[in-house]
Amino acid sequence: AEILGFSDVGVTYPNGTRALEGVDLRVGAGEFVSVVGPSGCGKSTLLGLASGLAQHTDGYMQTGTDRVGYVFQDATLLPWRTVAQNVEMLAELDGIGKAERRRRAQEAIDLVGLSGFEQSLPRELSGGMKMRVSLARSLTLEPELFLFDEPFGALDEITRQRLGDELLGLFAAKRFAGLFITHSVSEAVYLSTRVVVMSGRPGRIIHSVEVPFDVPRD
Ligand code: ADP
Ligand code: ADP
Repeated sequence: AEILGFSDVGVTYPNGTRALEGVDLRVGAGEFVSVVGPSGCGKSTLLGLASGLAQHTDGYMQTGTDRVGYVFQDATLLPWRTVAQNVEMLAELDGIGKAERRRRAQEAIDLVGLSGFEQSLPRELSGGMKMRVSLARSLTLEPELFLFDEPFGALDEITRQRLGDELLGLFAAKRFAGLFITHSVSEAVYLSTRVVVMSGRPGRIIHSVEVPFDVPRD
């Protein structure tokens, strides 16, 4: 199933800045597309379109789901709430009942490897663990599409690799669709099924390369 489809999409911001032009992009279930390119080429704008936070001004855009998870570099956890409370927060805002959101939160916490840390506070956690909390929080909304904006940007190399490996496992198991912004080309190739390269102002897609599954991922 197609989760996200852009046809000749452009974005001009209200102040007149032309941020994107002629973007054709399709993301299906089970596909993990990474986007690389220099600052200012429109990567965040593209993610904003996918999340519904930004509006396209040209072309045609189709989203096959409204269940979208967004994971930022800055994990934005509420410092006075425990891991369990932070994970439940989005489901709570979404009006999901207490028993159901508890169940979802616990399942998500187990899935990202945070069992035993339910009652910890964010300040007691390492950067990698905060990222896991952020991921678990998104999982409670049972998304079909995950948007990642430099999720590992603030993490050390070993944590990046470990979280990247786990993300690969999670995506393979759940057939999520993913759109992933990164500054690391090797990370893009390692993690994704397709690498999209953007460039220019306004930003355009200048290359789109499938990553064969038999690329050794180590
Ligand atoms: P990237 O994520 O690749 O750095 P962005 O999507 O953030 O690129 O920005 C693309 C272009 O759009 C840049 O020229 C940026 O200054 C501009 N831009 C981003 N957000 C806005 C906004 N809200 N209003 C006006 N211009 C913006
Ligand atoms: P990860 O991405 O696996 O969390 P980290 O380097 O952040 O990588 O942490 C490595 C491991 O150290 C964690 O999986 C966890 O078991 C342990 N750890 C990190 N921070 C804490 C903490 N505040 N309390 C207890 N254990 C911790």
